[in-house]
Amino acid sequence: MKIAILPGDGIGPEITAEAVKVLNALGLKFEMETAPVGGAAYEASGHPLPEATLNLAKSADAILFGAVGDWKYDTLDRPLRPEQAILGLRKALGLFANFRPAICYEQLVSASSLKPELVAGLDILIIRELTGDIYFGQPRGKRTATDGHFPGTEEAFDTMRYSKPEIERIARVAFEAARKRNKKVTSVDKANVLETFQFWKDVVTEVHKDYPDVALDHMYVDNAAMQLVKAPKAFDVIVTGNMFGDILSDEASMLTGSIGMLPSASLNDKKQGLYEPSHGSAPDIAGKGVANPLATILSAAMMLRFSLGQPEAADRIETAVKAVLAQGLRTPDIYSEGTTKVGTREMGDAVVKALK
Ligand code: NAD
Repeated sequence: MKIAILPGDGIGPEITAEAVKVLNALGLKFEMETAPVGGAAYEASGHPLPEATLNLAKSADAILFGAVGDWKYDTLDRPLRPEQAILGLRKALGLFANFRPAICYEQLVSASSLKPELVAGLDILIIRELTGDIYFGQPRGKRTATDGHFPGTEEAFDTMRYSKPEIERIARVAFEAARKRNKKVTSVDKANVLETFQFWKDVVTEVHKDYPDVALDHMYVDNAAMQLVKAPKAFDVIVTGNMFGDILSDEASMLTGSIGMLPSASLNDKKQGLYEPSHGSAPDIAGKGVANPLATILSAAMMLRFSLGQPEAADRIETAVKAVLAQGLRTPDIYSEGTTKVGTREMGDAVVKALK
């Protein structure tokens, strides 16, 4: 089991160190190798995704990724910015399926921005297509408009597109995932306005014929955004395109209390995956030892389950996380009166202890 550890920038190294500590405490044999990525890699070698890092990622069964980015790189040319490392890894490894579970832990119900009765017991899974859609569609760019409302003026444009195989494979991932859960998939689209998403809806409906045991419904993205805050527990698995998934998964993350709790997985068709917390590099708290490492630790659990074939070890980590929350330990982002405030390292140590 070879794991590439890419800590990245900001709080990335702090939270990744805690996840590595937890992995090492499982008593399993891993080969782990660390490499720089993002701003750290740019500083070291002039590129956010150096060839050596990419080769390590390609050769590993799984990648544990911290986070990348810092405001100080905002003036760099786009291909040199830290965030390009993630896009580069997704593309090079064909990581098309992004899993973002949104689980509201019993002990954190009061940290949610919604009423406790709306989120208590929440356990939904958002599956976002990750390599297509308007984020990657060509052509894109800037030009002088030849038509539209203001011909002769400067304009910018992107292209929304999805091929049938791209939609089919993400739909299959969603139906398979739902089979292991509550057997319900909601496909989110904008079929009333966009050709791309009418096609999406038609293809998902066709694929559904192979999964008669799973219920399928379709929802427009504007309604889905509303339902996520009105009745989030009505969902089981949501499957959607790259841009809608980007927005809805962040919305869903807030239902759970803190973005510091949310893991994610991005998988290719060989089950090789990149595992990372859903949040960014949090430059505002980097180096202070206060970042919540649980999203990264839970990402390591997803890695054990999806890419390394170790579901029992994944369960052990998730149970340990619930145990430390039950003990009342909280990093500042999830702290409330009556609980015990701890730092990044103490939280990692507590999870290790709870494993035993
Ligand atoms: P962010 O997720 O880094 O931070 C948003 C807020 O959440 C901040 O107040 C931060 O302190 C807090 N936060 C995030 N993670 C936390 C944790 N584990 N514990 C406690 N608090 C936490 O988003 P941002 O501020 O918009 O972006 C910062 C940088 O991260 C930018 O450069 C952005 O491009 C980058 N980014 C990277 C990724 C990634 O690596 N996958 C994702 C999103 C943003």
